[in-house]
Amino acid sequence: MTDLLALHGVTKRFGGVVATHDISMQVAHGSIVGMIGPNGSGKTTLFNAIVGYHPVDQGSIMFDGRDISRLCVPEIARLGLARTFQQTRVFSNMSCLRNLLVSVPHAREGLAAMCTRQAPEVSARARQMLRFVGLHDHQAQLAAELSFGQRKLLELSMALMSEPRLLLLDEPTAGVNPVMIESLIALLREINARLGVTLLVIEHNMRVISQLADYVYCLAHGELLAQGTPPQILGNREVIDAYLGGAQP
Ligand code: ADP
Ligand code: MG
Repeated sequence: MTDLLALHGVTKRFGGVVATHDISMQVAHGSIVGMIGPNGSGKTTLFNAIVGYHPVDQGSIMFDGRDISRLCVPEIARLGLARTFQQTRVFSNMSCLRNLLVSVPHAREGLAAMCTRQAPEVSARARQMLRFVGLHDHQAQLAAELSFGQRKLLELSMALMSEPRLLLLDEPTAGVNPVMIESLIALLREINARLGVTLLVIEHNMRVISQLADYVYCLAHGELLAQGTPPQILGNREVIDAYLGGAQP
């Protein structure tokens, strides 16, 4: 399988802090790749670098064979890259449907045009995506009225509006109750299998990683500590020590 995303020696510094150092990783077309690591190990920084939010200091980021490390956020989004945030970002005082309508990539139509014209095919896709994540009955409801887990689903459906080829998910199950975690895992699998979206997932929950990921990268202190299949990673002594302070997962 060829790589949809490939990082080569990516280093990002914030003043004197080296947030990520010399990170190389690959995400194959159609795969689900996990990224784990203790807090502060550089996971979100790497996401921000991939989507163009932080320019990298060294290294390159290739998306479908093209170097995107010098492109800006909208250019990268237009190529088919979307992300969700560690702290869910939705527009609380808008309806769920409207949240989706305004999250169509600014690049393609222009946000202002989107808001006024609301092309029928865009509304149709918005309804389809709300149904896909199970929020169809909530389309007219204000996002502020949703539960925490439902807001996560809404954010997910917003990210899908751009028909991404690669979706970066920053801790999608954090703070979500165990029952909803199960449906989230099933939904992410469907997004991968039915919609054909490749996934790169930051996740602390090892059970989720085991059920979801084909391959896992573990960061610690901004460095790549280990990589492998979920069983290899879960059985890796260094990972257990760095991640869990020596406690068995
Ligand atoms: P993780 O997502 O793995 O918890 P982060 O990528 O958020 O880790 O952080 C990695 C390191 O980079 C931390 O030391 C953090 O304080 C630092 N860092 C992250 N973003 C910034 C920023 N915008 N400015 C300065 N330092 C930052
Ligand atoms: Mg983070």
